[in-house]
Amino acid sequence: MRLARPLENLIDELMKLPSIGPKTAQRMALYILKEPEAEARNLAKAVIEAREKIAPCSNCGYLTDIDPCVLCLDEKRDSRILCVAEEASDIIAIEKTGFNGRYFVINQDFNLMDNSELEFRTLEKFKAKLAAGGIQEVVLALNPDIDGEVVSRYLAQIASQYNIKITRLAHGLPVGGDIEYADEITLRRAIEGRHEF
Ligand SMILES: [Zn+2]
Repeated sequence: MRLARPLENLIDELMKLPSIGPKTAQRMALYILKEPEAEARNLAKAVIEAREKIAPCSNCGYLTDIDPCVLCLDEKRDSRILCVAEEASDIIAIEKTGFNGRYFVINQDFNLMDNSELEFRTLEKFKAKLAAGGIQEVVLALNPDIDGEVVSRYLAQIASQYNIKITRLAHGLPVGGDIEYADEITLRRAIEGRHEF
């Protein structure tokens, strides 16, 4: 069935969003058309405003509308611990755990298969942070995949030159999971990371 061009455009744009398939995109588009016009304008305005005003914090890489960000400005945080994460969205998740140290977000896609490497700029920033002193522990919180593993090792190597304790997130079995179905790497990590009961 042919849809009106503007409706088709809207569906196409929505489908570009993560985990939105054609059916969901169509449902969202029809919903936007059905609700009061002011609501649709608010949505469009929020998208534009967020895009214009939010940028990575120049200090830690978290997404912010003020620079440095609220996390960097918070004096109650423990500056001795620096948590390295891949993306700002990881910080949102880590913050929910009550972690109270500082952050360093890489904010850059690295894919070893594509031969893309960590930018020189990112590395220099990381080294400058360590060289500035005061950091006693670097927590590597990169994704538990091959790329995250390789980059973690690389960053750990750099941090070791500054005589800083390096830790990484424990990887284990998901709560509610089944040992029988856990993949080999997850299970091996869980055994390596076992602790006293
Ligand atoms: Zn910041």
